[in-house]
Amino acid sequence: MDYSNMSRLKINFQAIFVLKLTDMQTISSYNFEGKRALIRVDFNVPLDKVTFEVTDATRIIAAISTIKKVLNAGGSVVLMSHLGRPKNIPEDHLSLKNIVPEIEKQLGQKIQFASDCIGERAFEKSSNLKAGEVLLLENLRFHQREQKGDVGFAELLAKHGDVYINDAFGTAHRAHASTTIIAQFFPNDKMFGYLIEKEIESVDKVLNSHQKPLTAIVGGAKVSSKITIITKLLDKVDSLIIGGGMAYTFAKAMGGHVGNSLIENDFLETAREIMDKAKSKGVRLLIPIDTIAADEFSAAAATQLCDTNAIPDGWMGLDIGEKAIVAFTDEILNSKLILWNGPMGVFEMSKFQEGTKAIAYAVADATKKGAFSLVGGGDSVAAVNLFELAGAVSHVSTGGGAMLEYLEGIQLPGIAAILND
Ligand code: AMP
Repeated sequence: MDYSNMSRLKINFQAIFVLKLTDMQTISSYNFEGKRALIRVDFNVPLDKVTFEVTDATRIIAAISTIKKVLNAGGSVVLMSHLGRPKNIPEDHLSLKNIVPEIEKQLGQKIQFASDCIGERAFEKSSNLKAGEVLLLENLRFHQREQKGDVGFAELLAKHGDVYINDAFGTAHRAHASTTIIAQFFPNDKMFGYLIEKEIESVDKVLNSHQKPLTAIVGGAKVSSKITIITKLLDKVDSLIIGGGMAYTFAKAMGGHVGNSLIENDFLETAREIMDKAKSKGVRLLIPIDTIAADEFSAAAATQLCDTNAIPDGWMGLDIGEKAIVAFTDEILNSKLILWNGPMGVFEMSKFQEGTKAIAYAVADATKKGAFSLVGGGDSVAAVNLFELAGAVSHVSTGGGAMLEYLEGIQLPGIAAILND
């Protein structure tokens, strides 16, 4: 990425930041020769309950290009991360020591480990690092000062590096010591890693590139948890597809009969407001025409296909139906930009995953045809992984809550700390 591009990102970042060109550093242009790069990574990976071995290395693999960039450019690397939710004291099963073998495997070299991130030995090890070497610090959350955003703790951590790189998008919405507060100790030597750069670029591309048509697909359980993002998106999109449990609140708000489906009665008025706003803005709002209804919330339930606005009492909508799949797929295939957040049904049960699967394939097909697709936030990411389509969409976000907040236009402290002077 070049400076002109980074300046554009800065301007587009919800116009919160000072609109001036800066001499901000980027990982591609920085000279790492002889420097120790302190990298905040997201190595919060799942571990086997018995052996404590890494069971899914996705997050480690995702950080490798940033680490290798520094090493290949003549620098050394100090890695820091949290793992799980320790109660502020060391717990064996949450020690980052458990993931050393997996990092070594993915990186293709031996690494060092420091058993306390701010211990004497840790500083000894980081100050003796030679070019090409890597040191991993112990779980930051073994100290409660990390999540409190303690300045003194951040200042100590900062001593491990000459340059600070934040590549942990998943925690960018938290003002913790290692994700945000620490940046002030590197006024001229702070930057994003490749992962965060890609996250920012992807959102920027979807929300600010003005290619058309732009379709947002929003699913998941409840209107209440997606209301901010839906409202925000209405100012940007050409089409808004609503699926999942929240569709039934919309259907009821339109006067439909939705049986025992998930309904948020407090949000019926909100749903009406969204529909009015969509109409006044010329946004095509698509609600599922038909539904797979079940007689109980269970994988063993009896099912029937019915109109979404005529679900019998005692039955609940747990997936979108065939006509909805066709209508949504059509809309997606005609799009140039696609944003997808939230499943179309209870995809965790195979009986109710056809809708989500079909939408995942439609997004992949549209991408093959040249659209740019961003899958972000929680369960839709799990869905593309389940259907093995992660490689078939343009970008799968690594940050669940962080991505949602970013899309909602909230200033993420971890990003602001790098962008601000
Ligand atoms: P969210 O975290 O809000 O994106 O919601 C994801 C959850 O919504 C998943 O666990 C789905 O099982 C659930 N979900 C999707 N469709 C429905 C539905 N029709 N009824 C109940 N839950 C649903």
